[in-house]
Amino acid sequence: MLPVRPSSCGDNRPHGAGGEPPLKSAVRIIEIYRMNRILLASAFLFSTISTALADEIPSAVPAALGQVPAAVGAAPKAPAPKLVEPHLHIARSNVAGHARIALTFDACMGRADERILSTLVRERIPATIFVTARWLKRNPAAVAVFLQNPDLFELENHGQNHIPAVDTPTLIYGIASAGSPQAVRQEVEGGAAAMVGAGIPAPHWFRGSTAKYDLSAIGQIRAMGYRIAGYSVNGDGGSLLGAVITEKRIASARDGDVVISHINQPTHAAGEGVAKALVDLKAKGTQFVRLEDVEDTGDDKTTE
Ligand SMILES: [Zn+2]
Repeated sequence: MLPVRPSSCGDNRPHGAGGEPPLKSAVRIIEIYRMNRILLASAFLFSTISTALADEIPSAVPAALGQVPAAVGAAPKAPAPKLVEPHLHIARSNVAGHARIALTFDACMGRADERILSTLVRERIPATIFVTARWLKRNPAAVAVFLQNPDLFELENHGQNHIPAVDTPTLIYGIASAGSPQAVRQEVEGGAAAMVGAGIPAPHWFRGSTAKYDLSAIGQIRAMGYRIAGYSVNGDGGSLLGAVITEKRIASARDGDVVISHINQPTHAAGEGVAKALVDLKAKGTQFVRLEDVEDTGDDKTTE
């Protein structure tokens, strides 16, 4: 005789020897149904709590830092510092067809980008170069070119080890900040000492790694006698942009703009765009100036 199967059971496999009697199976099905309801209710409650917590977290942690709290309910840490990325403008020429533009290049680490350096020299285009101690050490030939062309190149301080000038511990684009006023001082003084050691005149401008600062570090660096170099046109997106977009961005700079780009990534496409934009700007009648040549205005108390 065939065993009777419960009509509600979706399982059509035969209940063979050792299988449960029909009534017991039905009771189990009801139990599973109840369990599922409880689990669903629990999941809903948990997601509601999680959402409420998530709503609170972003207000305490600036999104620009890309940091996520280690765990919900962990002991509260010191609040992340408020960071600024200051703008800098120079006095305009106000002469139609002769926009005044300050080109600034960061030499963070790595090698000199000959595509840019040779174009600057060949076209006789003045620029301000921010160098780190690390870059100076690795690029004596490029430093020699800078020093041989004092009418073109103003060299300024980009720090000792390319560490962000922020005086409390945090991460910026994954880079650990200096973390203390002492470390900010070391970054600034170490960069200047390496410059003077390489035969470069003592710097008057400082631009920190990532171009981000907290306000107390800005005050400290200003008190050390430096102006802090922001920018108004992000030319190459940290040298990560393509050649065409980089050329377009830099060539579209206007009267009074300060352009930031990089001269230390010879393998990146952006450098090709930078070199082309220099020629484009010259053809447009641009008046190129260095930071030491003009009046300037920086926000976040970086220059006044
Ligand atoms: Zn840099």
